Amino acid sequence: MKESGKINLVGLTRQELAEHLAEIGKERYRADQIVRWLYLQRVTEIEQMSNLSRSCREHLLGFAEISQLELVREQVAEDGTRKYLFRLHDGHTIETVLIGDKSRLTLCLSTQVGCRMGCSFCLTGQSGFERDLKAFEIVDQVLQVAEIIDPGGLSRGAISNIVLMGMGEPLDNLEEVIKALEILKYDDGLQFSSRRITLSTCGLAPEIIELGQRMEVSLAISLNAADDALRSRLMPINRRCNLAELMAACRSYPYTKHRLVTFEYILFAGLNDSLDDARRLVKLIGSLPTKINLIPFNEHPELPFKKPEQKQITDFLKYLQDHNLTVMTRRSKGADISAACGQLREAVDGEVK
Ligand code: SF4
Repeated sequence: MKESGKINLVGLTRQELAEHLAEIGKERYRADQIVRWLYLQRVTEIEQMSNLSRSCREHLLGFAEISQLELVREQVAEDGTRKYLFRLHDGHTIETVLIGDKSRLTLCLSTQVGCRMGCSFCLTGQSGFERDLKAFEIVDQVLQVAEIIDPGGLSRGAISNIVLMGMGEPLDNLEEVIKALEILKYDDGLQFSSRRITLSTCGLAPEIIELGQRMEVSLAISLNAADDALRSRLMPINRRCNLAELMAACRSYPYTKHRLVTFEYILFAGLNDSLDDARRLVKLIGSLPTKINLIPFNEHPELPFKKPEQKQITDFLKYLQDHNLTVMTRRSKGADISAACGQLREAVDGEVK
C-alpha cells in the first residue's frame, strides 16, 4: 500500500464521513450508505458503491480512496492459531493474531508499531517504538482477516471477538483507538458489541478513566504483580501509575454484571508465583468485581524468565479460588509461531520476502 495523498474512507467515523460529504454538498445519509458499503459489504472500490449517484462517486474518487494493508505472510501454529504479518504504507509491518477455541474466533489487533512501555517480559516492548497506528490501520486488520477467512462474505465473517492486545499499548494511542472502536461497533457494519471487544492495557490510569467515560468496552489489565516494587521492575509504567492509582482507575471504570474488569497475571517462576504473592493479589483485588486470568509464562530464548512448575501454578490457582476469586488458567496460544502474548513484533530487515 502506497500513500497517495487521498483520504482513506476506511477509518473515518460516520461523523467524519458526513463532514467530508457536506463539503461537496452531499446529504448526511450518504455517510450511512458508505458505512454499509465499507463494513457490511466489505467493498474495496468506490466504484462498487452502486447506490451512490455517479456524480457522488466521481466526487469521492477525486479526494478519497479505499486503501488496504498488504498481507505479507500468514503462519499457522500447531494449535490452529494464525498470525498475519501486514505491511503498512510506510514499509513498517505489524502482526495480527486469530485465535480459535471451542466457541469463539478472537482477533487480536495491534495498535502501534512497537511499543514504548518497555515491559521486561515482552518482545514488542524490547524492540522499541516506531509510531502509532491510524484508525484505518486498526480497523483494516479486521477487514483483511475477515476477507481471508470468508472471501466475498459480509461484515466480520466468523470473527466473534476482538481483543486489543497485540503490538502496542492501546491507551497510548487513545484518539485513534477510540475512533477504531467506534467504527468496529457500528451495527450496520462490523457489529461488534461492547461485550465482544476487550481492550488490554498495562495500566495507564488516567486514560483508563477517560476510556470509561468515552467508550463502552471490556477492560483487561496486564497486572503481573501485586506489589509496587516487583511491578515496577517488570513494568516501567508502574513508576508513573502505581498500583493504588491503577486500582482506583479500575474501580471507577463503569462495569456491569456482564462486563467485569479482567486482570491478566503472567506467572513467572520464582518471581511472582508464591503463596505470598497470591495473598498480596487477593488483598489488592479486594471486593472489585473481577476475573483473573493466570497465564504461565511462555518461555522464549531472548527472555530470561521461566515458567513455574505445574504444582506452583495449581497451588496459586487454588489459593485464589479458596478466596472466592473468579480465576482461570489460560495457556497462551500460537507460541510455536511467536504469536503468543508478548511475542509479537515488527519483522526485521531480510525476514520478510
Ligand atoms: S506487554 Fe503490552 S504494554 Fe507492555 S511492552 Fe508489551 S505491548 Fe507494550
